Amino acid sequence: MTGITEVNALKPHYRCPNCKYSDFSDHGVKNGFDLPDANCPKCGTKLVKDGVDIPFETFLGFNGDKEPDIDLNFSGEYQTKAHKYAEVILGQGTTFKAGTIGTIAEKTAYGYVKNYFEERNIHMSSAEIERLAVGCTGIKRTTGQHPGGVVVVPKGREIYEFCPVQHPADDPNSDIITTHFDYHSIDKNLLKFDMLGHDDPTVIRMLQDITGIDPKTIPLDDKKTMSIFSSTEALGVTPEQIDSKVGTFGVPEFGTRFVRDMLVETLPKTFEELVRISGLSHGTNVWTNNAQELVKAGTATLAEAICTRDDIMIYLISMGLPAQNSFKIMECVRKGKGLTEEQEALMREHNVPDWYIDSCKKIEYMFPKAHAVAYVTMAFRIAWFKVHIPLAYYATYFSIRADEFDSEVMIFGKSKVREKMAEIKRLGNDATQKDKNMYPILELVLEMYERGFNFLPVDLYKSDAIKFKVEDGAIRPPLNSIAGMGGIAAQGIQQARENGEFISKQDIKKRAKVGDAVISLLEKFGCVEGMSETNQMSLFDAMF
Ligand SMILES: [Zn+2]
Repeated sequence: MTGITEVNALKPHYRCPNCKYSDFSDHGVKNGFDLPDANCPKCGTKLVKDGVDIPFETFLGFNGDKEPDIDLNFSGEYQTKAHKYAEVILGQGTTFKAGTIGTIAEKTAYGYVKNYFEERNIHMSSAEIERLAVGCTGIKRTTGQHPGGVVVVPKGREIYEFCPVQHPADDPNSDIITTHFDYHSIDKNLLKFDMLGHDDPTVIRMLQDITGIDPKTIPLDDKKTMSIFSSTEALGVTPEQIDSKVGTFGVPEFGTRFVRDMLVETLPKTFEELVRISGLSHGTNVWTNNAQELVKAGTATLAEAICTRDDIMIYLISMGLPAQNSFKIMECVRKGKGLTEEQEALMREHNVPDWYIDSCKKIEYMFPKAHAVAYVTMAFRIAWFKVHIPLAYYATYFSIRADEFDSEVMIFGKSKVREKMAEIKRLGNDATQKDKNMYPILELVLEMYERGFNFLPVDLYKSDAIKFKVEDGAIRPPLNSIAGMGGIAAQGIQQARENGEFISKQDIKKRAKVGDAVISLLEKFGCVEGMSETNQMSLFDAMF
């Protein structure tokens, strides 16, 4: 209604886009997107289904006495602009970057002390080294900037009333002003935004650019898309073909081994369940050592287990605890503080079961429902593309999320891909970090092949410098997908070819400003086949 968010926090409901009819009655679902389709009883128009049911109190407390936690995710390519724009919206001189202070870790401190004595040939007992190391631990080592933190001063006040500020230590002329003051000493007085860089908005933008589809129009109740969270069928492959029982490779928040195992154990069929799984997977000791065992043992269902902060407050209020106490308990639990004796007694008084109290005590950190909803919404939209416009999905994933994409092992068919996967598996922990990072990309490449799609060769003229392109029902890898070919060399080639075809390898080197190493990479991939070495036509060429 206010236009600040597309997340509708009201209870699940139907509303008519034509005559404004609405229906907030309980249809037995906890999330509006899970409501069955229905038409307006007044005018027959298809009703909009909405409402993800987020209590406002999680945000500001019952009396507006909680400092709000505001996180905004922007495309990484856009984050700097977003930070600048915050100052435009909120007023000049009101926004300051949050600083970070790096301190000396225990192990580093131990190393410092040990080296000090070794270098000076002083013999020192390990107990004394440890004692001195403890004294060094936690001392300021360096300062930096928080990746997204922005501190906001209310209009009419000055930052100096709250804390000191400074330019970055290495650049007194920078227009960035930072505060390194301990935020928790002023968090009751100043608001902090987290304006982070994130891949999901970049991915969604590229999908929109390729397909022309506005991501906001994607139906969040699409059955086929929902099915990949519990089966591979909608992708047209069997679990054996892709070595996974669910179809979520590459889907943000749901693609990792950890979360895929959760999906296999819970087989979610509703949007509400996806939100719960997102909450479970983002917490610390919320799923592992906690809800997982409860669900397995049949003590609690996914719907009953504690998944997000909001669950606790809503549940306790429903059990008859006073709202303020329910809120307080939620705040203690989500910060990992467990329960006080009084809180536990109050819960028992209202018949809160033992497993629930236990579960509260184990939680160390947990997501608010609003975060989970925002992440699942983005994930679901991206998953929709995976099901319905697969090539756009794979091209986008490889362009933005696959830093370790290596054409040599990936674009020449699935047997080569399987070979590499087997090799990495065989090496286990001995595999290089590069190979370990490559594994999830191989999973996606294999899945793409198994769904019947292929790569086109890397092409000197047709390949983009850095982006994968959808072309003739296949994917054209970019120049920099050749291992060893850097982004700058690839872009040099792309720029140079705009001024006409290359007449020789020497011509490429000169116009694209690349060296022999790049030329031999192009040779390896057959990109310069038949091209002469130099611009001079040789006598041999002239004879034929
Ligand atoms: Zn109507």
